[in-house]
Amino acid sequence: MKKLTEEERAALEEQKREERIRKRRARLEKHAVDCPHCGKSVLDHMTKCPYCEGGLTPRGYRPVDEAKMKKIKSVAFIVGLVIAAAVIITVFALRG
Ligand SMILES: [Zn+2]
Repeated sequence: MKKLTEEERAALEEQKREERIRKRRARLEKHAVDCPHCGKSVLDHMTKCPYCEGGLTPRGYRPVDEAKMKKIKSVAFIVGLVIAAAVIITVFALRG
């Protein structure tokens, strides 16, 4: 395999960066909607237009629910405890 020169590597890096920027832009465009109040391009998860301050209805996006996250965390904690207990019991059972 041919070793890349410094310029070739830099060109490759540049290409990768452009690709990343293009992907990010495409993703943003997918979420772009026209503000019903001023017609400017806004993102569909926004609740307020940054240009005219008009109210928007968020679409296809749900903010992280704090209560739900806490519930998930506590369930994960209990599951972890059960697994730890099972491991400890198994170790004691094997010894005895
Ligand atoms: Zn607007």
